[in-house]
Amino acid sequence: MIGHPEDQLDPTCSRAGCTAAAAWNVNWRNPRIHSIDRVKVWLACDEHRDYLRDYLGARDFPVLVTPLGQSVELVPDVAPSSTGRTA
Ligand SMILES: [Zn+2]
Repeated sequence: MIGHPEDQLDPTCSRAGCTAAAAWNVNWRNPRIHSIDRVKVWLACDEHRDYLRDYLGARDFPVLVTPLGQSVELVPDVAPSSTGRTA
């Protein structure tokens, strides 16, 4: 079977040292250097999905987690009142 080239790679978690299969897209953007329509994507396994989201969220980067392969066109700005996070 021959598929698209990108399908030949098993997507793995972006967490350093983790080789688990990715199950999530962690879409994020650094508002200081990226325009609103720029989307960076990390891949995360089930275990590290929250870790990576929190890692970015702690830096006040907008983050949007979606199922693996489900891309987004933009990552909305963080709504200050919806994080449930206390400074
Ligand atoms: Zn992982």
